[in-house]
Amino acid sequence: MCEYFWRQLLKWYYKNKRSFSWRETNNEFFILIAEILLQQTNAEKVEPIYNQIIKKYSKPSILAEANLHDLENIIQPLGLSYRAKRLIRIAEIITKNYNDSVPKNKSELIKLPGVGEYISDAVLCYGLQKKTIPIDTNVLRLFTRFFGLISNFSRPRNDKILIKEIKKNYYYNNIKDKNYAVLDFASKICISKKPKCRICILNNKCEYYK
Ligand code: SF4
Repeated sequence: MCEYFWRQLLKWYYKNKRSFSWRETNNEFFILIAEILLQQTNAEKVEPIYNQIIKKYSKPSILAEANLHDLENIIQPLGLSYRAKRLIRIAEIITKNYNDSVPKNKSELIKLPGVGEYISDAVLCYGLQKKTIPIDTNVLRLFTRFFGLISNFSRPRNDKILIKEIKKNYYYNNIKDKNYAVLDFASKICISKKPKCRICILNNKCEYYK
């Protein structure tokens, strides 16, 4: 089941993957900025804003000195402009406590304001080449549907047993592509309302489709 899942998924991904600027960089600071902007926000809308921010504030020490009003104006089209203040605060902490360089382990990353399990795992995987699995609602949806996993939690992302079950289905080679493949597939095919089961390349063995 697992082998089938990953074989099919990666085949689909290499033909259909989405392209975003933050996927073209290993700069962990840029990836941290992208992940803060991507919270509850459509990725396509984030791209131009992300590009403006990394061009103007290329290092934590530069962002730490940003004018709040200027940054709020840049972020404003995305809504949730409280993220401007949060980004500046994060940059101040990184500049002061980590010598202008994003911390490289989870226990330190997670201390930054607004950085939780998902963002810290994303920065570790996409920026620092660590074998982590950032789990958000997209990942939860695809795995619970395909593998028939269930949770009694009202917020399944807080269900540690479910998260452990999901992680058991990962092989840790090529993890970056696997994480992106799950995200892209859950955004384009196994979507929240009305998943596209009829055209889905996983439908032969999907528990939900059965
Ligand atoms: Fe999702 Fe449907 Fe594909 Fe199953 S068959 S993985 S529910 S889109």
